[in-house]
Amino acid sequence: MPNSRHRPRKRFGQNFLHDPGVIERIVHAIAPRPGEHLVEIGPGLGALTRPLLEAAGKLDVVEIDRDVIPVLREACAGYGELVIHNQDVLKFDFTTLPGRPLRVIGNLPYNISSPLIFHLLEHLPVIQDMHFMLQREVAERLAAAPATEHYGRLSVMVQWRCSVELLFTVGPGAFKPAPKVESAVVRLTPHRQAPVQVEDGARFAALVNRAFSQRRKTLRNALKGWVTAATMESLAIDPMRRPETLSLADFARLSNAAGTSGED
Ligand code: SAM
Repeated sequence: MPNSRHRPRKRFGQNFLHDPGVIERIVHAIAPRPGEHLVEIGPGLGALTRPLLEAAGKLDVVEIDRDVIPVLREACAGYGELVIHNQDVLKFDFTTLPGRPLRVIGNLPYNISSPLIFHLLEHLPVIQDMHFMLQREVAERLAAAPATEHYGRLSVMVQWRCSVELLFTVGPGAFKPAPKVESAVVRLTPHRQAPVQVEDGARFAALVNRAFSQRRKTLRNALKGWVTAATMESLAIDPMRRPETLSLADFARLSNAAGTSGED
């Protein structure tokens, strides 16, 4: 919904959706119902906001750019109750919103999508699900399996906490201005029951971070000082493997052992 009253700002990652077919597909995937608590990140000029508001009757939005707000208000007038939080979403505390669980939605600014997903992982207890438009490569990282091109820290940390569904891809022509890359829509649903047992979340996060910052090394070298080669062997994990070949369950077992075993 490009608007002559607003020039898109690159620094806010503003690529506005204007393809009605894509907008409809996203709203259909979300399937909002009256009374649900929807929160949209980066509503911009309201391409998704208006149909979401129409379906749910009420919507919270978090938008950093105060200049789009008058246009957004006008686009949504008469469609329902719109609560605008003119803030940086990276500093927004989702737990302060009354009425739960939250359904979080966003055609995300691509320059902050990874830090934003990590920020949202801190708020999962109040979140029912999340639907995001992302750069296709980031969507592929979220869903990637071990030992594949896009597998990394983001894959492990998100798959630990959420199930990830790649819904569909979207070409650059659906946006104005058109981005240089392909996009994709994903659904993240927090696990009701964790798929793996992790004894200490902070230690798990630190170990995964360490492993992927040393991804070309063998596991033995990458995790030196954390887990001994003997402990790896006792877990039936070959210390000569590369960190990027490990599954979520392997990382969980290593991090649990890191708290108990003697270290190198
Ligand atoms: N939802 C609109 C659409 O689909 O056309 C706009 C999507 S545009 C890709 C990203 C939106 O996020 C912009 O409106 C931008 O101003 C907003 N944004 C960028 N950085 C933000 C931040 N840190 N906090 C909140 N909103 C942000």
